[in-house]
Amino acid sequence: MTRKGVIHWVGDEADAPKADRIIDMQGATIVPGLTDAHVHLFAIANERQQISLNGPDVRCLADVLNRISDPARRSPSSQWIRAVGFDENNLAEHRYPTRDEIDAVAPDRPVIIRRFCGHTAILNSAALKLLGIDEGVSDPPSGSFGRDGRGRLDGSARESAAEAIFRAIPPIDPAAMVASLRGTIEDSIRMGLTAAVEAAVGFTSGFDDESAVWDLLRQDASFSPVRLGFMYQLDPKEAATRGLVPRRDPDWQGMTLKFFADGIVGARTAAVSKPFADTGTTGFFMRDEDDLERVIVEAHLDGWQTATHCVGDRASACVISAFEKAERALSGQKPRHRIEHYFVPPEGGLARMKALEALIVTQPSFLARMRRSILGAFGPNADKMYPARSVFDAGVTYVGSSDAPTGHVSPWAGMANAVDRGASLGSPIGPDEALTRRQALGSYIHGGAFAMKQEGWRGALAPGMAADFIAVDRDPFGASTDLAKTEVLMTVLRGVVRHDTLSAGQTAAMEAEVH
Ligand SMILES: [Zn+2]
Repeated sequence: MTRKGVIHWVGDEADAPKADRIIDMQGATIVPGLTDAHVHLFAIANERQQISLNGPDVRCLADVLNRISDPARRSPSSQWIRAVGFDENNLAEHRYPTRDEIDAVAPDRPVIIRRFCGHTAILNSAALKLLGIDEGVSDPPSGSFGRDGRGRLDGSARESAAEAIFRAIPPIDPAAMVASLRGTIEDSIRMGLTAAVEAAVGFTSGFDDESAVWDLLRQDASFSPVRLGFMYQLDPKEAATRGLVPRRDPDWQGMTLKFFADGIVGARTAAVSKPFADTGTTGFFMRDEDDLERVIVEAHLDGWQTATHCVGDRASACVISAFEKAERALSGQKPRHRIEHYFVPPEGGLARMKALEALIVTQPSFLARMRRSILGAFGPNADKMYPARSVFDAGVTYVGSSDAPTGHVSPWAGMANAVDRGASLGSPIGPDEALTRRQALGSYIHGGAFAMKQEGWRGALAPGMAADFIAVDRDPFGASTDLAKTEVLMTVLRGVVRHDTLSAGQTAAMEAEVH
């Protein structure tokens, strides 16, 4: 039974106090609502505003051009046509569309196509003109503009040239972004999420633009999102300049600064101590190690929780040292500093993390999504990557998350991969690191609430806890349960039914009975 957004009573039906309204859960299993502790909601919402060029029905250049010509025909406005997910490997022609080909289907509106890697842009003539890129342009350092056989611009731009273009195009209309965020969050609720941490504001189109969109969403009284936490992609001084201070809040929390220590496995840019098996390289830091340590210590002194992207073992080791330095400078704060990913575990890292009460926030769906990368980059050592069981065994808090849109957006896919270690695609990666179903589910329930410092009032089905819970179509603890296929039948958030396929139509505020 719930009352005013809080669980009021749990027990046998026969002993239940009188309720104004009873919902028959029809025997479904009920568990606390899930938290996605690292997700890029803004990036997902941003992609939803764009034309998707990946999918089984995009098989040749004509399919690509058709998708672009559709909006060009429908609305003759001057707005940018933006397409994402382009991959010529999936096309019969195995090449990019040329500027002339795009011009033929969209002569008047600027078009930008983003290759799936995010390092290449393809533009039409209207876009080149708007951006002031003409035939006289020269290649920037570590970037290039593509040219055809006659030396004329073909519309493509790579690396730093593409980056500059992505920054130069106008941001998507804030009102459209708010609508898209609402849709993204509604989808999350349907998947059983009742809380999420945006990781991070500033990641997609810059801090101030993104912050303005989130503020607009917050002012929208007609919409109540999941319980949100925000990481700010800002250095402590930049946060202070904007008047930001760490703020705990059950609905709209901002207590975390996000930093990037190194790169990724896919591009072999993660800072590792042992060379990658296939490239023989050891990656690099995204910012100077001393500088990274400095901002982590400063953030700690200012009362922030920090969350640092660390993929390689050199990156994690450096950040753990920074945590230790911060703790020496000001102890007893229990900031629950976070390491995001913890892909390549550093020697002795877990014992140091435990002593610091620091958290590992990880993305089990990467075990499936990045399978080829992991096997290629680490060869025989692949089984040691993305530890999970050993994190639990060391007494370090393991937090499950999606990192969508890079990882699989569904928490159930993540949990399934935490249990099967990607076995659906071949042999499991690091079978000894497999979690039990209970641990996997717990990492999205207690783990996520703990990362947000909210475990005291949500994440359990007990009187006094928040009425955030879900009903699912199967027993998530059953030995033969396929977790990935779990359907959420009902999501209750703050005591309000927000998603319901059990008893269609019940969406008003309610007093639920919990079996
Ligand atoms: Zn991320």
